[in-house]
Amino acid sequence: MLSDYHVHTPLCRHAIGEPAEYIAAARSAGLDEIGFSDHCPMAGPEPFDDWRMDRADLPRYLTMIELARAEAAPFPVRLGLECDFIAGHEGWIEELTKMADWDYLIGSVHYVAPGWDVDNPRYVARFNQSPTAVNEIWTMYWLAYAKMAASGLFDFLAHPDLPKKFGHRPAGDLRRFYEPAIAAAAKSGVAIEISTAGLRKPAGELYPAQDFLLLAREAGIEILINSDAHAPAEIGLDFAKAVDAAHAAGFTHTLRFDRRQRRRVPLADGTA
Ligand code: ZN
Ligand code: FE
Ligand code: FE
Ligand code: ZN
Repeated sequence: MLSDYHVHTPLCRHAIGEPAEYIAAARSAGLDEIGFSDHCPMAGPEPFDDWRMDRADLPRYLTMIELARAEAAPFPVRLGLECDFIAGHEGWIEELTKMADWDYLIGSVHYVAPGWDVDNPRYVARFNQSPTAVNEIWTMYWLAYAKMAASGLFDFLAHPDLPKKFGHRPAGDLRRFYEPAIAAAAKSGVAIEISTAGLRKPAGELYPAQDFLLLAREAGIEILINSDAHAPAEIGLDFAKAVDAAHAAGFTHTLRFDRRQRRRVPLADGTA
């Protein structure tokens, strides 16, 4: 049985569908749990950007998920948050940690530099601004990802490989980018998601690539399979492909979270 723990709500201003619609989609996809994880509010002047909830929206988010959970019972609905990791701003994550009774916190790197979210189509030209740009952007991203993995702040880490979203990959063996992040995650014990969102983007493959998954398996890292749904129709999308990739890399289990306690459960059959 599978769950989907990376799910957004309209509070982040770029997702559609109410929690009840996502929950209905999870049930009809045959999942046995769902967890919401909208984009976190940020410290400092607002708006921080145009794709997250403001700090004032956080109580609304908590109430919305609490109501959805009560309506869906006994179907399990988890409360999570997708937190932007920015090195030097770990204190804000610690504050967010205390603001609710989270089932899990997801760590994400979107910002490779202040004001530059690497997955934002607005900045896609930057990948082509010099012959070395792709390599440089990947280097910035994976440096941040390794710091996030080492931070110990999160239960699992989102969409590794995000800078390939628009199809930009450096030449050669990409394991040179993955290895420091995997070593840091293995040391801190944080899990990593396999995200089917990459299949819906120009990248055309799962986040992360199979080479990353193999290294993660060898390092003893645990995985989850998530959709990063921004619409109810994306819940559980392409999960069979992700299960096949996980099995091919040697994974046999995934994780569930309840108030930041993890539990291992066997991976479902990928061909289901
Ligand atoms: Zn989003
Ligand atoms: Fe994200
Ligand atoms: Fe997300
Ligand atoms: Zn995400």
